[in-house]
Amino acid sequence: MIDPIQWVRCFAELIDEHTDELTELDAAIGDADHGSNMRRGTAAVVDALAESAPPTPAAALKQVGMTLIRTIGGASGPLYGTFFLRCAAAAGDSDFDAANFAKAFRAGLDGIVTRGKAESGDKTMFDALAPAADALDQRLADGDSLADALDAAVVAAEAGRDATIPMLARKGRASYLGERSVGHQDPGATSATLLVLAARQAIG
Ligand code: ADP
Ligand code: MG
Repeated sequence: MIDPIQWVRCFAELIDEHTDELTELDAAIGDADHGSNMRRGTAAVVDALAESAPPTPAAALKQVGMTLIRTIGGASGPLYGTFFLRCAAAAGDSDFDAANFAKAFRAGLDGIVTRGKAESGDKTMFDALAPAADALDQRLADGDSLADALDAAVVAAEAGRDATIPMLARKGRASYLGERSVGHQDPGATSATLLVLAARQAIG
């Protein structure tokens, strides 16, 4: 079982630890704000959850999505915000058992694609999240526990993140650089890997 609020708190902590790294990655192929964008957003989410604890997972995730859209800014704000809004809609009133979490994660990923139109190999957060969702679904279908399936999802996200290094960016600000985007790890794929790791940490 995953507590969605714990998931988001773990994500905020990981973003806090990696803020400088995310900003450095964005300095190379963007505008050096991904770390501060994400930190502002996840800190606001933690504050909002502390002020009022929404009664259901869906209500909590909806609040997370709305807060992220309002506070992250940049290209990634609406994308992460949409991810959580779609998660909320898919979760409904149910707790996050393995099947429900996988369904919500997939719905969130689909929301990012609907919003940002990224495809595999475009050098975006999609390149970390999509292999993670596939690994999660595959392992759960094989009968693995949620913890084991999320371990595999983290490994898949890390591999997807690392695979963005040789890619030429086709979406977002980095795409303006053309060939000069090659050789750098995508900041969004890096923060997205932390989102998957946070879910693994939040298993209760
Ligand atoms: P901005 O580019 O507006 O400064 P950020 O720096 O916060 O926003 O986020 C940049 C990240 O957003 C990129 O590294 C990439 O992973 C992600 N991104 C940008 N455009 C898209 C898109 N269309 N689909 C998916 N992810 C995207
Ligand atoms: Mg940026």
